[in-house]
Amino acid sequence: SDSHFPIPFSPADTDYSQHYPNFVHSNLKIQFADIGCGFGGLLIKLSPLFPNTLMLGMELRDKVSEYVKERILALRSSNLGQYENISVVRTNSMKYLPNYFGKAQLSKMFFLFPDPHFKEKNHRRRVISIPLLDEYAYVLDVGGIIYTITDVEELGDWMKHCLETHPLFATITDEELSVDPVFELLACATEEGQKVARNGGQTFHAVYRRIAFVE
Ligand code: SAM
Repeated sequence: SDSHFPIPFSPADTDYSQHYPNFVHSNLKIQFADIGCGFGGLLIKLSPLFPNTLMLGMELRDKVSEYVKERILALRSSNLGQYENISVVRTNSMKYLPNYFGKAQLSKMFFLFPDPHFKEKNHRRRVISIPLLDEYAYVLDVGGIIYTITDVEELGDWMKHCLETHPLFATITDEELSVDPVFELLACATEEGQKVARNGGQTFHAVYRRIAFVE
């Protein structure tokens, strides 16, 4: 349960020098968040693409987050100077996101293959929902991007609907996405994405930009 992991009181309350020792003197803030990062495949692919951007995976399962931590440490020790910009915390992102990130701090958030929660009464547990989009809009900077992908068509429709409905998000066209180097990672970088691809499954993405409020 939640009582088993530490929860920072506020974004300033976490000592990130433990997470990113090579960046201790840089004053950089975390800019990318991978929500429900699972085994960390996306962080590992993103790390060399944006070597000076700090990224944090958030994962609820204790053993899985420990695995990601070990995986990153192993990559750091066999590739000196690399993979220093990625780390992971065990947390419930649906409850504690504002404890980790301040207003407009993030430029990208990832929700890759989130749990579908099929039953209607469980839709409120979905990691994309209108109330949670308010929080995501708060931590994302204007111009920041939310990337979502799933192999469950109904969930894909749901995520698109929530993002389409929310006044602080606007769709990004497939044309724009085709020149975004991050977009092509959504379907294939993570362990879940690779499983879906091996089984020949279809995927459904929704990628939206945080926009300024217009009256
Ligand atoms: N994104 C990864 C991938 O594509 O391989 C993992 C996908 S997996 C189906 C969903 C992950 O979200 C699981 O590892 C689960 O433990 C995690 N998760 C579910 N609810 C969460 C929450 N509230 N906070 C953080 N992680 C959560």
